Amino acid sequence: MRTPIIAGNWKMFKTVPEATDFIQSVKGKAEVEGVESVICAPFTNLPALVEAVKGTSIKIGAQNLHFAEDGAYTGEISGRMLKDLGVDYVIIGHSERRQYFAETDETVNKKVHAAFRNDLIPIVCVGEKLEEREAGQTKEVCKVQTEAAFAGLAKDQAAQVVVAYEPIWAIGTGKSSTAQDANEVIAYIRTLITELYDESTANAVRIQYGGSVKPENVTEYMGQSDIDGALVGGASLQPDSYIALVEGA
Ligand code: PEP
Repeated sequence: MRTPIIAGNWKMFKTVPEATDFIQSVKGKAEVEGVESVICAPFTNLPALVEAVKGTSIKIGAQNLHFAEDGAYTGEISGRMLKDLGVDYVIIGHSERRQYFAETDETVNKKVHAAFRNDLIPIVCVGEKLEEREAGQTKEVCKVQTEAAFAGLAKDQAAQVVVAYEPIWAIGTGKSSTAQDANEVIAYIRTLITELYDESTANAVRIQYGGSVKPENVTEYMGQSDIDGALVGGASLQPDSYIALVEGA
């Protein structure tokens, strides 16, 4: 059985006091037995958040990392630094990073390896653009991105990866994929992992849907056979909404 995972992607929102106030508001509420709850916050919030969630079941994630451990990479943060802070998860290859910061399938793969070297669980984002969907290329795009992300991972590492299927046209737009469509793509991603490894590895991998998930639709996604959770941007920023997402899972 896969443990459902709700992860909030705060993007570039919240100062330290705003972040810690959020945790005070969701403590004991966004904590539901059998559901993993992860907040992926800006780097500046991470030390305070790691401290704020002590004694709760809420986990903290970053939204990016560099693939090197140290080096002359001005402005970057490594997996080693994140682990040192007590972070558990890291989002890799979010479409905003692919689009605005020139991340490629190759850098995504290097970052996935860097995450494992530092005992961080990667949440790897894959998904198609609107024009790719309209051209019937959704599965092909997801295949290329998924195979690249998993390249060179051992079976025990692969089993720990969290994949977030995020159709780009559904992120922050209010236009969500139907639960059935999302489930079909997610089931396809699982078959890809079966082909790369085996069925037991594929059955261990948690695959989230992301794209305009909110309290009103989360239950529908979670009711699908292959959807194991959600990566949520906008609706993860308000405590009440985040609590409802975790409860809805
Ligand atoms: C995201 O940032 O990964 C995301 C899915 O955003 P939203 O929930 O706002 O569409």
